[in-house]
Amino acid sequence: MQNELPEHELAIVGSGFAGLGMAIEAKRAGIEDFVVLERAHQLGGTWRDNHYPGCGCDVPTPLYSYSFAPNPYWSHLYARSEEIRDYLERCADEFAVREKIRFGTEVTGARWDAEAQRWEVEIDGRPALTTRFVVGGFGGLSRPAYPDIDGLEDFAGALFHSAQWDHEVPLAGKRVGVIGTGASAIQLIPQIAKAGAEVTVFQRTPPWIVPKLDRPIRRPEQQLYAKLPVAQKALRALIFTITEGVGVAITRYPRLLAIGEVWARRHMRKAIGDVHLREQLTPDYRLGCKRILPSNDYYPALARDNVELVTAGIDRVTPTGVRAADGADHELDVLVCGTGFQIEEVFMHLDVRGRDGITLRDAWAPGIEAHRGTTISGFPNLALLSGPNTGTGSTSQVYMIEAQIHYALELMRELRRGQAGAIEPRAEAQADYNAWIQKRMQRTVWLRGGCNSWYLDSAGVNRTLYPGPSSSFWRSLRRVELAEYRLEPARRRVSEPVAVPA
Ligand code: NAP
Repeated sequence: MQNELPEHELAIVGSGFAGLGMAIEAKRAGIEDFVVLERAHQLGGTWRDNHYPGCGCDVPTPLYSYSFAPNPYWSHLYARSEEIRDYLERCADEFAVREKIRFGTEVTGARWDAEAQRWEVEIDGRPALTTRFVVGGFGGLSRPAYPDIDGLEDFAGALFHSAQWDHEVPLAGKRVGVIGTGASAIQLIPQIAKAGAEVTVFQRTPPWIVPKLDRPIRRPEQQLYAKLPVAQKALRALIFTITEGVGVAITRYPRLLAIGEVWARRHMRKAIGDVHLREQLTPDYRLGCKRILPSNDYYPALARDNVELVTAGIDRVTPTGVRAADGADHELDVLVCGTGFQIEEVFMHLDVRGRDGITLRDAWAPGIEAHRGTTISGFPNLALLSGPNTGTGSTSQVYMIEAQIHYALELMRELRRGQAGAIEPRAEAQADYNAWIQKRMQRTVWLRGGCNSWYLDSAGVNRTLYPGPSSSFWRSLRRVELAEYRLEPARRRVSEPVAVPA
């Protein structure tokens, strides 16, 4: 351990919803000695990176926002990405945590020093600081995945990922190919079609699309929420109750989802008269198996003359376009990959060494897993936000993140309360928890619905989502069960107690 390195109580990695929320809650809990390490030059995480045309939240924003920072001024029930970005910027200022963020600082690894009971954090490959506790808010969807398609690198036109949109490339009058029909693609396709591009959509699997119950939130309603916050709380509670209901169906009673399929089919029929096109767009798996996508403009966009749907599959990318599996060549000027994200790489690319030098890569070689989605045996004083099996297929990820933030603070409080220097989950507790997760998983539509999705790893195991309603996840993280943890006595004096915001 290099003694001259700056020492902190807490280091938070990332400044998206997770890292920023942790910073705010840490501050509210009375922790002053913390630092937020952010590789980019702006905060906002996924909402900073994703600015493709039409980008917005597909969960109503009164719920997809911090419980401790309601915003009465959302312009729509489903906010657009720039509004969410502005909201996060405002939160950083209102809660006075911006000065804690070190921008342009990429964490590349961390090493647990058992003697000092501290993490030595590496920035750009070099030890840069030490900290008693680390919270990782890396963001599950922060590393774009390009498709593994022959010839992609030979494409001579403009090529970019939905999460790395190049606004310098003009699209009007251009031939634009979009690979993928997931949550991002279905938002951007209508916008680029409207902007006058000739769009070719390469669909591998059709998604289920339901009506988007969006509406503007006008001035009088905003003023009501500003003057009477309880009114907005009631709206939040209503949205929460509805999304929890969907969550229960997804995780326990997948057959009920057939009702949603009737709704989605009617939605498609209203927009698309062509029977053949409807057949191409109708999924052959249960609704909810992949993310349910709300949109009112995706189907109408596919019915436009300047949009073509290709379902033959992709044989290869050529310098001038895409050759489909049926031999047809689609000439293109621009190729957009709406092909999702690398999930496990978010954690695996880091050089994290825990107790006895074990690396995270080795610990997770059989598959990524954590105790209550947050802590990892062998890696003391570390909490992950949006870790394994903490995603939600139906409700707000911000709600899940807040539950984990509370848990991370509880862990820090236990450290201080017990005058301990290190806390980590017992291997048996972690194994039991994950056995329970996978048992519960068997009932979910994600395994029973007859689809393949990014929720599943290469062995077909769902290590991304929580197999229950989000309120049950929240309850399971209200307090730390000490029997599940190993506490090591502190070798150094432990400072003041941490208050945990209610
Ligand atoms: P995604 O849901 O993973 O969709 C990727 C799409 O690319 C799928 O249609 C997939 O087809 C296709 N694809 C991937 N590799 C391909 C290949 N080699 N050849 C042909 N097609 C290929 O990615 P995403 O749309 O970026 O969304 C990812 C997640 O981000 C979402 O599930 C959601 O959690 C989040 N998101 C949220 C919002 C929001 O509003 N809150 C908005 C956007 C994204 P298959 O289906 O056949 O695999």
